[in-house]
Amino acid sequence: MTQRSNALPPLAALTTPTLTWNEGAPHATAFDDIYFTRGDGRAETEHVFLGANHLPERFTAWEAARPFVIGETGFGTGLNMLCAWACFEQHAPSSARLHLLSTEKFPLELAALEQALASWPSLATYAQALCGQWPTAVSGIHRLHLTDRVTLDLHFGDTTERLEQLDGQVDAWFLDGFAPSKNPDMWQPELFNAMAARSHPGATFATFTCAGIVKRGLKAAGFNWKKVPGYGRKREMLAGSIEAPPADHRRQATPWFIPPPTAPAKHVVIVGAGLAGSSVAAALARRGIKVTVVEREAPGAGGSGNRQGALYVKLAAETNHQSRVYLAGLLYSQRWLTQQNSPQSLWQPCGVVQLASSDKEARRQQRFIEQHPLPPDVVTGMENPALTETAAIPLTAPHGLYYPQAGWVRPKALCEYLLSQPGISLQQGDVSSLTQLENGWQLNLADGSTLGADQVVIASAHLANRFTQTAELPLQSVRGQISEITLPDEVAGPKRVVCAGGYVAPALEGVLTFGASFVPNNATTDVTDDDHQRNIDELRQTLPALVEALEKAGIELSPENLKGRAAVRAASPDKTPYAGPVPVAEAWRTDYSLLSKDATRVAEIPGRHHPGLWISTAHGSRGLASAPLCAEVIASRICDEPMPLEAPLVDHLHPGRRIISAIIRGENA
Ligand code: SAM
Repeated sequence: MTQRSNALPPLAALTTPTLTWNEGAPHATAFDDIYFTRGDGRAETEHVFLGANHLPERFTAWEAARPFVIGETGFGTGLNMLCAWACFEQHAPSSARLHLLSTEKFPLELAALEQALASWPSLATYAQALCGQWPTAVSGIHRLHLTDRVTLDLHFGDTTERLEQLDGQVDAWFLDGFAPSKNPDMWQPELFNAMAARSHPGATFATFTCAGIVKRGLKAAGFNWKKVPGYGRKREMLAGSIEAPPADHRRQATPWFIPPPTAPAKHVVIVGAGLAGSSVAAALARRGIKVTVVEREAPGAGGSGNRQGALYVKLAAETNHQSRVYLAGLLYSQRWLTQQNSPQSLWQPCGVVQLASSDKEARRQQRFIEQHPLPPDVVTGMENPALTETAAIPLTAPHGLYYPQAGWVRPKALCEYLLSQPGISLQQGDVSSLTQLENGWQLNLADGSTLGADQVVIASAHLANRFTQTAELPLQSVRGQISEITLPDEVAGPKRVVCAGGYVAPALEGVLTFGASFVPNNATTDVTDDDHQRNIDELRQTLPALVEALEKAGIELSPENLKGRAAVRAASPDKTPYAGPVPVAEAWRTDYSLLSKDATRVAEIPGRHHPGLWISTAHGSRGLASAPLCAEVIASRICDEPMPLEAPLVDHLHPGRRIISAIIRGENA
């Protein structure tokens, strides 16, 4: 009998460290230890971590399609990682990519990070890229795109816990962290075991310490080590490698989630040019893959086609995997949009107020705040009159939540922008079926033409299950209509996005957008008076003062005075998006049929998937928070990179999850 474990360490707001400064070099009070050696810290890093891992030589020779991966314990000021990045720029061929991942339990505050890195003027441009995206101190993985070919994943939280959740493998380890004598809790056998289990065969490590506990721990985990000359006055340090890392047994109890083997892709075709498809296109193109996007109508013709959409999430009162995915997605989207948005035209991080429009909702929000120790720059509970002041418009609801860094996006403009990136071509066409070839796929279009691809990503919302290979994916169509009205000069709209049942965004070019209606199992797209009326009723409840001001200005809020747009969004039965490889449903039903008799009887067969076929859909009405991160999930898997989410959350998004629950329930699909 196998236990199924998909537990995650609890969500936590992390404590920032107390520092003292010695001529620009930080010292951690709690550990009584330094982050780097004053004066020659950079030279020390280059000797200990870069040199002993042979990075200059390995970067020079790196020709693999996947990125070279460095894993570090204890990010601190980022000096080691920035030096590794600089070394990569100096030595690696232009086709090579670098993936840095580093754990940190006590992230520095931004000002301290900037101050520490100011010690290294020659790293100033690298430091700027890091500081410009420095994430909030919340546990979890924060992915930063430092350049098109250099990615940094900050795994905030305890090192061992984080490495146990890591879905990815490392080529070279920087075993840092304060000295074992100052930080014995970190240097435990579990740490070395987790490193070993997340190593590529032949992965190397280097560390400044020669402590016995480290030598013994590394050896027991399968690393060989030797003493090599240390830096400066330190006579010795350790370096070594692991030739045969242990197999990853984490998915033993859920073998259907074992990722399919990856094959390098040169050309990927994406079906659908909404936000899901466009963000996968951009994620793959950034990795140097040629992308063709095939779209029936035009970019953003479906659910991603509104002028304005809200970037917001509704997190469960009690943390669950879905909420964790959405929170990670929200934080990622905020960072990613800020990076795409240099002309300030694609989005506005104006803040989102989420009103508690009933006592029940107020209690739910209260529970949410109690259970989610999140910093106020992510979300905070608010009472009136603060709510009213924040939204700059009278709000009658007494309670709400405020997400200061969320906001509104121009989804259609965003899709167009993403698709305009180099390496992406857009082709109009209606893909009617997919044929698997020996080495890839043939897409058969309705006009009789065909298109070849190494791999295919289906991102066509509610139409994603129209193909034989995806026919059993449960998807629901949800009709949504937004309403628009031009505001007269004397009426000011809200300054923040205000959400209750629907959302109201700050006016864009004088036009107020509100809605959207939510009509499950309906795939129609005509604009109806009924839906306008629902939106008006909702607006009256959410912002009565605005409706009153409009009426005072002689504007009657009635369906005939409104413009609008209706589109169909796709939802899954459990309301989590699908992002990942496409399972061979029939094979899963055969391979795991015993689950229907006894849910603990797990056949030891890895999940069978259609090779090189992926899907991103069911983003519902929260696609702005989920689609960009899901794009990274798919692109990372295609390119054999570490994942941007913890293993249990990657599995939570798996398109095959419903097949397993159906087998367990004794249903057919
Ligand atoms: N690599 C860093 C650099 O380049 O600046 C220096 C690292 S500093 C010597 C050690 C770091 O390990 C600190 O930032 C500390 O907060 C972090 N740390 C200590 N114990 C940890 C743990 N159990 N999990 C994660 N990080 C930890």
